[in-house]
Formats: sequence, structure tokens, C-alpha cells
Amino acid sequence: MTKIGLEIHCQLTKLESKLFCPCKANYRESEINSNICPICMGLPGTLPRLNQKAIEKATLIAMALNCSTPEKIAFFRKNYFYPDLPKNFQITQLNIYGDTSVGGSGMIMVGDKKIRITRIQLEEDPGRLIYEGSSSKNQITLVDYNRAGTPLVEIVTEPDFENPKQVREFLTILSNLLENLDVSDPSLEGAMRADANVSIEGGNKVEIKNIGSFHDLEKAVHFEITRQESLHSREIPIIQETRHWDDKRKITISSRSKEEELDYRYFLEGDIPWIRIEKDMQEKLKLEMPESISSKKERYVKDYGIPDQVANVLSLDKFYSDLFDKSHNELNAKEVANIITTDLMGLVDTREKREISKINSTHLRDLADAIHSGKLTRTSAKNALYEIVKSGKELSVVISELDLGNVSDENELLQIIKLVISQEPQAVEQAKSNPQTINFLVGKVMQKTKGKADPKITLNLLTKEID
Ligand SMILES: [Zn+2]
Repeated sequence: MTKIGLEIHCQLTKLESKLFCPCKANYRESEINSNICPICMGLPGTLPRLNQKAIEKATLIAMALNCSTPEKIAFFRKNYFYPDLPKNFQITQLNIYGDTSVGGSGMIMVGDKKIRITRIQLEEDPGRLIYEGSSSKNQITLVDYNRAGTPLVEIVTEPDFENPKQVREFLTILSNLLENLDVSDPSLEGAMRADANVSIEGGNKVEIKNIGSFHDLEKAVHFEITRQESLHSREIPIIQETRHWDDKRKITISSRSKEEELDYRYFLEGDIPWIRIEKDMQEKLKLEMPESISSKKERYVKDYGIPDQVANVLSLDKFYSDLFDKSHNELNAKEVANIITTDLMGLVDTREKREISKINSTHLRDLADAIHSGKLTRTSAKNALYEIVKSGKELSVVISELDLGNVSDENELLQIIKLVISQEPQAVEQAKSNPQTINFLVGKVMQKTKGKADPKITLNLLTKEID
């Protein structure tokens, strides 16, 4: 049987500052090597000052993944020489004196499959190495310390996955969960990285390191299983080793360096005392814990009669469910859900588009009401939505500027209907024998009014005219 285990590194991107110093956690917008201070540079005489909020966010993740939470947590030094960590050690967590990481064993369901979580630990991210130069011979390595010391949560699973599909489903659930908890934005570059271990029946365990995104993680696992199966079928032994993911060539490569065999000489971080996780804090976190995705979905179906599939799509993504929760009421809930899932999701389908989008909950409420009262047809509402996302103007302004208001004046509509009837004699004959085909004529009226004809009145008048 194939066994896959994951180690997922997730940056706590919603925090203000780094794990042990006041530098910004959001290093992405800073000039290279400007988001640094004596603490994260490891200068002599400095001491780490723990970001209490990071413990809370990490504990929140542990609770959401059904992990046990210890009474006391401790930090350890993991010693190694890497140019991207100026202290020459990383402050991390380790369970050698009992469970002292932020989260102990937990589990999460992926469909019917139970994936056990081994532990969750809080640690600091290293800096970033930037490789420049055209070939391996004249390559230079630059280092940017802006990221050094930013808060990272490592989620370690048991080798419970049996195939890449389960891995993908797990990652989708996990990134939605992290986003819903408001601890991390998984779509940010580098916010989610992973290592994986993979073994097939009768073979040794192979570790894959350095996978830079969730997207590549599934690919890396898939590649590795195929590689191992190919070796196995040719009776070549699969050796226990560490391989690196090459994200340009999309393959795993044996890492021949001895670096993975290093003894990290872990020892307790003497500059940070053991920290008690007070029951009060856990209770407070429980109260603050955002509504889970599954309970949102249930509420949408039960309270508003939103179809299962629509409720599912709506609840999975915090951006849309927040918008929905702020704009709906009992009367317009279905319409708001409909606008979001059929039109808005297509208009703002990337992170960049969301960020520049000007839509707010008032717009959505106004749109749903306008459709409900017959002031706008769905087609006009869609056109209005497009303009609102772009400009952020009020709906009433958009309606008058684009002249989107419904044509519900019977005389005006009758003129158009008569014109359509004279132009489409065949369709009229057909509609007389088969009333269902009348929709074709309604469509023609819609075309002539640029989608603004009130559909109910149009249908009534057409039926009368044909008879
Ligand atoms: Zn700093």
C-alpha cells in the first residue's frame, strides 16, 4: 500500500509582527533587507520577545484540527549553519519532554478518510536565498533577511494518505480552514510550503523537501509514486533518501549533500521560559473561533433554503461567505447567493481581481432587491454588477448612467412585441402549436431591449398577442 505523510509549513500571514521581534510579519512589500532589526539578525546581546498573538493563532489552528493542547509549551533551538538564518539556529518546538508543541495529536476527515495529525508546532521562518546568474558555474547567491523570524506553523500528519487525490482534497480543506480562521492567506506566494514522505509497498521511505506550493505538492507526490513504481517494476531497490523538488522541471532529484544527515543538537531555548497555556485563553479562543465552514453551509441550507451545491460553494470561501453574511436578509438570501455564485465569482476569480474589486455588501443587497422588485432583469443586474465591481458606484447611479432600468411600460413593450411577431412568422406559428417555444420570442424581445424588458410582462403580452 502507498503511504504518504505531509509536513506543511504555513505562515501566519495575518499577524502584525514577526515571532520574536517587532519587525513586520508582512515582509513582501519591503525593500530587500530593510525589514530587519538586531533581534531577527541575531546580534549579540539581543533577546527574543515572543509574539503572544502567534501563540493564540497557532492554538486556534490546533483546536480547529481537533488537536490536544498542552498546559505548557516550550521552545527549542535547532542548530545548523545556513546562510538564511543569521542566528545559526532556528527557534522551533519539539516533543522530547512530553507534548510541549502548541498542538498534540489531532485529526481531520477528508471525505470518509481520517487523516491523523501528529503535531503542530510554532517556529520562525528563515530568510530567503535568491539565486542569480545564468549557469550553475557562475551562479551567485544573494540573501534577503526580510522573512527571517516571521511566524510559521508546521502541521505534521501521519502517513495516512494513500494517493495524490487524497492529498489534494486535504490541502483544499486545509487552506479553506486556515483562511476561514483568519490566520493565513494561503494564496500569497510562499505562504504554504511542504515536505512529503512517500513509500510504496515493499519500498523504503523517501522524503521530498522544498515543495514551494500546494499546487506543486500534489504533483511532487504523483511524480514520486510513479518513479518508485517504475523502479519497483524493474526490481531496482528504492533506497531511503531525501530528494528535492525541482519546480522548474517538475521532478524530484536526489539530494546528494550530507546536509540532511546533520545532527541538529536540539536544546531548550534558554531565552524563552516555558509558557503556560491558560484555560482562560483557550476558553476565550473557543468563543472567538469563527463559525466552521460546515456549520455555515448547514445554516445556509436550513435557514434560507439555499440549494446544497450553492451553499457548498458559498461557504467554502471566506471572501464570498463574508459578503453573503453581511448583505443578506431572510427575504433576499437566495437572490444574494445566486448573484454571488453565478455572476460575482466569475468576475472576481483571482486574488488580484478581488483586491481591486469595489463591491460591498450594500451593493449586493441593492442588486438583490432590484431584481426582486422587478426593477432590474437578471441580465441588467449582471451588467450593473460588472460596472459596480469596476467603479464601486451606487446601484442607483449605475442604473441611470447605463440606462439599465427595466422596460415595464406595456405600450412601449407592445410596440417591440409587434415588431418581433412580424419579423418571426415561423416562430409565431411554432409557438401557437407548442407554447413552450414562446421563449424564443421572449428572447428576441430581450435582444431588442438589451435585456431590459420585464420578463413577466413580456410573456403575458406575447401570449395575448399570439392567441
Ligand atoms: Zn526584527
